Amino acid sequence: MVQKALLLILIAASAFLFWRRFGLVVSRIRGARIDPDFRLGSLGRRLWTFFSEVLCQAKVIRERPLPGLAHAFVFWGFCAFALVTLNHIAAGFGWRFVEQRSAFGVFYFWFAFAFAVCCAVSIAALAFRRFVIRPTTLGPLSRESGVIALLIFLLMVTYMPMWWVSESSPAGHALWWVHTLIILAFLPLIPHTKHLHLILSPLTIFLERQGFSHIPPLSGDEDFGMVSGKDITQIAALQAYSCVECGRCTEHCPANNTGKELNPKLIALGLRNHLNEHGNRDETPLLEASISQTAIFQCTTCGACEYQCPVGIQHLPLIVGLRRGAVNTGAWEDGYGTKLFLNLERNGNAMGFSQSERDKFVAKQEFPIFDGSQEYCLWLGCMGAYDPHGREIVISFARLMKHLGTSFGVLKKERCTGDPARRLGNDLVFGQLAETNIESFRQASVKKIVSICPHCVRTMAEDWREFGIEVEIEHHSEFLARHSNLPSHKSEDKVVFHDPCYLGRYRGVYEEPRQVIARSAEVIDPPRARERSFCCGAGGGLVFLGEETGKRVNETRARELASTGADVVGTACPFCQSMFRDALATTSANPPRLLDIAQIAAAALPSDASRAGTDVILS
Ligand code: SF4
Ligand code: SF4
Repeated sequence: MVQKALLLILIAASAFLFWRRFGLVVSRIRGARIDPDFRLGSLGRRLWTFFSEVLCQAKVIRERPLPGLAHAFVFWGFCAFALVTLNHIAAGFGWRFVEQRSAFGVFYFWFAFAFAVCCAVSIAALAFRRFVIRPTTLGPLSRESGVIALLIFLLMVTYMPMWWVSESSPAGHALWWVHTLIILAFLPLIPHTKHLHLILSPLTIFLERQGFSHIPPLSGDEDFGMVSGKDITQIAALQAYSCVECGRCTEHCPANNTGKELNPKLIALGLRNHLNEHGNRDETPLLEASISQTAIFQCTTCGACEYQCPVGIQHLPLIVGLRRGAVNTGAWEDGYGTKLFLNLERNGNAMGFSQSERDKFVAKQEFPIFDGSQEYCLWLGCMGAYDPHGREIVISFARLMKHLGTSFGVLKKERCTGDPARRLGNDLVFGQLAETNIESFRQASVKKIVSICPHCVRTMAEDWREFGIEVEIEHHSEFLARHSNLPSHKSEDKVVFHDPCYLGRYRGVYEEPRQVIARSAEVIDPPRARERSFCCGAGGGLVFLGEETGKRVNETRARELASTGADVVGTACPFCQSMFRDALATTSANPPRLLDIAQIAAAALPSDASRAGTDVILS
């Protein structure tokens, strides 16, 4: 009787300590602003993600196989132990859900035993990694991680002797109490530590915003972005409390890798700290109290952090939300940024050229003006219309379209899609540009668009939806891969292909550019390729923001590409190409050549007198 009373008191104390903190977290999340555009949407896809990422731990294992598998065994061990634990506590009151000697009991408890062994080995290996190997991305050593690892290990080893030690013996009795006390000590630690993710992350993953790096629209004229705690939405709060501090985001962040202040893990933790200290009703500015403004504007929006995060944290809406707050309140003062926004407003392009420069280029190339009779509208974008090297890509691609007999035209007037304004948090300028372009599309009855720029493709296909338009747009790699009847030209060159972030991670296009190159040359991958591709440094408007601090992102990536020994660096984005042009020159006296996939494909076309001397690009 005394034992049951003591057990009851200990359970009540443990549950109280658990709820005292967990209840506060729940109230912070529930009391946050409702996400204006959140829809539960396609349940099938959410359930599949839940099955794959939570139950199968697929992402954790895929991205870090050994530690991922160890983590998965700890997770599966917890799942297998759920019934064991309930049974164990119930036994303290003289009840049982499952009799150990029953047929099911024998099967189930041996099954749990196997998981207990795997879990004990795995947690010991994870502790060894954290405290002995100490990867820098995990951050400073944390005592709480050590305590939690020890408790999990003890939980498993105090369960294992149950098959050999009689429950009614003094040793069995002692084991039962030690196991029980560990469970009751573990419970309140969960909400007080990063192990809160044990409870929250399944929900966070299930409730992820749909769409990779989706930037939610502002909810009206009074919405200035994330300025203070009252602007943090429920999804953002849930994600912030789910961070497990694993550092996967930081490990893959190009800004952090090149010595900049930005650390995506600290954005999630900054938000969490802000909610803890100031709540969700306070007006203390986030960027003064909890997160660095300098860091926020070092982000290239490459999406590597969001792709890597095992608990479904979506960094891009947070980063762009904070940038919106800084831009809309005037807290961000940057000469380059001001000039960029003025260029976009006055000239309709990011570089500040007069639109007559585009007109002259279009006339010189004799590009037809789109009038509704052609199949495709060829979107030039700022780089394709004004940058000399971007123009070369457009010219090559137009030659390929002509060779295929595909009819196309270019818009008489085109303005920037608004990509840099959108990513830098200036929705006013973004909206003006998007609406003007959408009106031009409507007037010209554009149905299909193709572009050489993944940033334009992304912005038109996803960000413009806010304005009620869904355009059918494809990237030129998709167009060229589909047209397998293009002439091929086999060269001896090796081409290392750099996956642009906005084509790969954002659009999921990996094979198409490789297929195009493979018609002409051998394609090789750099060490970080496809989903793990390392950014060129241009995205998020950063290409227009002047000097970087620390090492240059483009030079870091250019060295990695050149180190493959390839003859050619293949790109599929005019921004990547512009970032690598000077950077490759710093790698050696004889760096690889730099070509877009359209230029590689066009090299196989019958020679064109007007292009003499410029088409011989592969050996
Ligand atoms: S989007 Fe890229 S640059 Fe920005 S924080 Fe994430 S990993 Fe770093
Ligand atoms: S944000 Fe995600 S990837 Fe980064 S430390 Fe937190 S849990 Fe890990």
